[in-house]
Amino acid sequence: VAAEITVFEARRRVLAAAAQLDQETAEVARALDRVLAADIRATADIPAFPCSAMDGYAVTAGPADRRLALIGESRAGTPFPVRLETGQAVRISTGASVPAGADAVVRQEDTHRDGDVVVADVAAESGANIRRPGEDMRAGERLLAAGGRLDPAALAVAVAAGVGTVAVTRRPRVAILCTGDELRAPGEPLGPGQIHNSNGPMLTAQAERCGGEPSEALRLPDDPDATESALRTALERSDVVLISGGVSVGPHDHVRPALDRIGVEQRFGSVAMRPGRPTWFGVRAPTLVFALPGNPVSAAVAFSLFAAPALAALQGLPAAATDLRAAELAIPVRCHPHRAQALLSRCEHRGAMLLARPCPRQGSHVLTALLDATSLALIPSGEGELPAGSPIQLAELVR
Ligand code: AMP
Ligand code: MG
Repeated sequence: VAAEITVFEARRRVLAAAAQLDQETAEVARALDRVLAADIRATADIPAFPCSAMDGYAVTAGPADRRLALIGESRAGTPFPVRLETGQAVRISTGASVPAGADAVVRQEDTHRDGDVVVADVAAESGANIRRPGEDMRAGERLLAAGGRLDPAALAVAVAAGVGTVAVTRRPRVAILCTGDELRAPGEPLGPGQIHNSNGPMLTAQAERCGGEPSEALRLPDDPDATESALRTALERSDVVLISGGVSVGPHDHVRPALDRIGVEQRFGSVAMRPGRPTWFGVRAPTLVFALPGNPVSAAVAFSLFAAPALAALQGLPAAATDLRAAELAIPVRCHPHRAQALLSRCEHRGAMLLARPCPRQGSHVLTALLDATSLALIPSGEGELPAGSPIQLAELVR
């Protein structure tokens, strides 16, 4: 029986084994949630040309009540090609190039027309209503750093900066195997003693949330040969293998011996925590294997604490992205003498402080309790009770 290690040591061993995957090129518009493998810099000053912030008239700076000859129009995408002289005006749209010679824009609302003459009712100061080149971005400026995840704003910035394709880390391929003779597919009618395979869809979705590329989840019978052969195939095809159930030491638990036969090297076999104690982690380079408990809450917790940081590291996210956060307990919690507890909790903000409020129901089979939880409050082992206000650490529950 393998020695139990702490949650922290287990996470450290996972991160030590998870090296960033190679990079590939992706079209910006398809790169949502991908992690940048290289910095993104502006290819030019943006705006690239002086342009109007308003619909109105491009003019030279001057006092109120000027009568100006209208000589043409500058539209967005179609600049006016001729130099503007004092005493002239060019109709201009928002975003259109300010013609040479003009150094101010008078808003449409601040003018009136008198035949071909535009009367500027207000004074125009030099620079008024003009967006200067480089106001948003400077050519060569670093806009997005390697290791950042591309969100909608980052995609827009990259495109505006002139970028069409980005260097991103390859998405980790994740295989999901669910062991258990009792498991049936979603919606399938159940016979006596059978249950639906909820871990399959849950782990698939969690892997996807963490940027992984899950393959179709497979159900496996509690059979040594079937377990071994499915694991062999999964190892060939994947960066990460998640296998749920069958990881304890019962007569129908075949996962550990199968992993051993295949040559997956154990990095830990048991974590001093509740739920999720029998979580197993090993490596057959370059693939990482997580054998997760079958109990659904335990599987969700073990995924969040161990597989999620691995997926982040494989994609090149900085460790800080999955670091534990400091929080305070909102209510007292009874400690377990030998094991840390990972309690399903809601995380609330109290000023600058995070408050962790453990959910009332914590059973490793009580799936519905997951619905109320955002986080995992890590309660150290010990005697007695941890009072409200105690400092603890908080992990994100992937959901
Ligand atoms: P095991 O780890 O295989 O001993 O399973 C522990 C508990 O989790 C048992 O009650 C199983 O029926 C249940 N379980 C195992 N696999 C799954 C699964 N894929 N979906 C839902 N429950 C599961
Ligand atoms: Mg089982």
